[in-house]
Amino acid sequence: MSDRPDRRPARPDRSERDAARPSEYRVVVEKDFLKFSAAHFIAYKGFREPLHGHNYQVSVSISGTVGPDGYVLDFGIVKDITRRVCGELDERVLVPAESDCLTVAREGASVVLVYEDGTRFVFPATDVVLLPIVHASAEELAAYVLTRLRAGLQAHAVRGLVEIEVGVGEAPGQAAYCRARLTPPS
Ligand code: ZN
Repeated sequence: MSDRPDRRPARPDRSERDAARPSEYRVVVEKDFLKFSAAHFIAYKGFREPLHGHNYQVSVSISGTVGPDGYVLDFGIVKDITRRVCGELDERVLVPAESDCLTVAREGASVVLVYEDGTRFVFPATDVVLLPIVHASAEELAAYVLTRLRAGLQAHAVRGLVEIEVGVGEAPGQAAYCRARLTPPS
């Protein structure tokens, strides 16, 4: 048998260090300029809102691991992508192109929407944005922004992200959030 004294190492081993260190961080971007003003109406089978508008406000929360630069990711990337998406939606009519109760057709320079009861809306195509969603709700708009954000972050080769959450507010104190886990929980 060894006669060496049983000493603990001067430095804690890796597992002890990792257990003592927070491993997941969250960055939140809530800027006044992440907004868009747009018209919409909710429509599903048997119900349609009148056309109306909101001053939408977007927020983004991203969790992940901190890299060697001390960041989860650069705030500027999140702001740039989100601002671009907000700009595309600003001062437009938000049309849910995958609606199950609206037919959406391009007729010359117009976009024509026909609800199931025959109600017709005709808009200049330049004033409309066709979105790959079923309803123009804050929930589905949040999911759309999240999809665009995720694609944009992938294009920037951002690594180590765990979860993205996007909030879309229709009015102060009234927002919907969509969250997507980017890596399977361990
Ligand atoms: Zn509304």
